[in-house]
Amino acid sequence: MMKLNTTAKALLIGVVAVALVAVAYAAVGRSPAGPAQDTEITAEVATVNAGGDCASCPYAGTDKCPAAAAAKKPYVDASKCIGCGKCVRVAPEAFEIDKKTGKAKIKVGASKAAVARGAKVCPVDAVVQ
Ligand code: SF4
Repeated sequence: MMKLNTTAKALLIGVVAVALVAVAYAAVGRSPAGPAQDTEITAEVATVNAGGDCASCPYAGTDKCPAAAAAKKPYVDASKCIGCGKCVRVAPEAFEIDKKTGKAKIKVGASKAAVARGAKVCPVDAVVQ
């Protein structure tokens, strides 16, 4: 049987260790370089990462970024809104006037169609879609 010197033994042990780590990562569906970018976003991941911890989020900078998706939600620009209530009249299921500010706001769960209807009648383009 062939005898190995100390350097060769160390090298062999290193190669075997790297191979074992690669096999272990493959078994759980991840690469040593980081999570696969095509991993499904679970509700849990989206909830955690929408909190703003972009440094540890595997989706930061990708088209699956939950924070970017959250940022794309429609809203009423309060600096523009004059509180006329036209949006509420045409789409009461999507808009309401905030009693404290006198400005319109979009209700939770409002449909895109209803928001678009309100945005269409806004005289100051305060609805950002
Ligand atoms: S229509 Fe525009 S300006 Fe009028 S309340 Fe709605 S968002 Fe504000």
